[in-house]
Amino acid sequence: MSGIFNFCAGPAMLPAEVMTKAQQEFINWQDTGCSVMELSHRSKEFVALASQAEADLRHLLNIPENYKVLFCHGGGRGQFSAVPLNLLKPRQSADYIVSGSWSKAAAKEAAQYGEINILDITREGENNKSVLPPQEWTLNKYAAYIHYCPNETVDGIEIFDLPKSHGVPIVADMSSTILSHEIDVTRYGLIYAGAQKNIGPSGLTLVIVREDLLGHAAKGTPAIMNYQLLAENGSMYNTPPTYAWYLAGLVFQWLRELGGVAEIARRNQEKAQLLYQYIDNSGFYYNNVVTGQRSLMNVPFWLTDESLNALFLTEAEKHGLLALKGHRMVGGMRASIYNAMPLAGVKALVAFMDKFASEHS
Ligand code: PMP
Repeated sequence: MSGIFNFCAGPAMLPAEVMTKAQQEFINWQDTGCSVMELSHRSKEFVALASQAEADLRHLLNIPENYKVLFCHGGGRGQFSAVPLNLLKPRQSADYIVSGSWSKAAAKEAAQYGEINILDITREGENNKSVLPPQEWTLNKYAAYIHYCPNETVDGIEIFDLPKSHGVPIVADMSSTILSHEIDVTRYGLIYAGAQKNIGPSGLTLVIVREDLLGHAAKGTPAIMNYQLLAENGSMYNTPPTYAWYLAGLVFQWLRELGGVAEIARRNQEKAQLLYQYIDNSGFYYNNVVTGQRSLMNVPFWLTDESLNALFLTEAEKHGLLALKGHRMVGGMRASIYNAMPLAGVKALVAFMDKFASEHS
């Protein structure tokens, strides 16, 4: 809806152009007389759509041939289980880097399936939070893999560098940062992401995995989590989330048309810079993450006078600025400014924050 900006951390807003196209095609997709969601996943129409979506994603992220792209169920948390089940061989351990709440949850889940070494890189200063940079991580060169979360959605911390892993596969939970800036896929063994932030609606999870990591699933791995089986069946071992796949395809096309990941990265920088700069200079709001590690996607902020929190949220809603309440674990506010959030949305937020600050200082 015009004039309304939704800052939800996920499920998050989708690009207006994508929503309009989906609406136009909703009950009659490509003159089939059916909605996409009513078509068999094995129909030639859906199979063509599915492979086009994969091709567009491959193009956007420059994914090499020796990586499989899997369209899975189960969300980010599904992958918290699937990763160790598929990659952690008997008598091996995996390194889990804990940089905030999601990587901590991933480590906790993985510990159910095998030996996990936890490396807590969080550092609490008097006035700010930071994490140890990858150059300072002490890693086990015999680990089955290293798991980390480049963007902590709750804590608003982003890790922009990669560790030197000496051949140990790097597994990245990119749920809240995928497609927001360019990455070199060849440096990762596996990337996964729940769709509901930068890709499409919830119900779909992407896995990009190097082929040599397939085929080692532990005994007892549920078939629908077995990467090898999923890859052999083109992600159609069971019925995939077809409508979410279709919407993801529209988002990939939208991204390609606007200039790809390089262009969206430029826009994301501009949005984040505007918001952080305003917060830092306001004297009324603050963010507690050290500069250089601040998330470009999730911007937590606090009012210096927390007794104004409820009023801030009510007033924000009246101004069409939705879902700014911070995560229940950290409180305060959070503005999630994923790819679909236009610069106009961030400008509207800053204008409102400034008005609120001047009225209540
Ligand atoms: N990882 C990250 C970084 C997330 O932000 C989230 C959800 N916000 C998850 C994992 C969990 O995703 P899901 O709810 O799809 O299981």
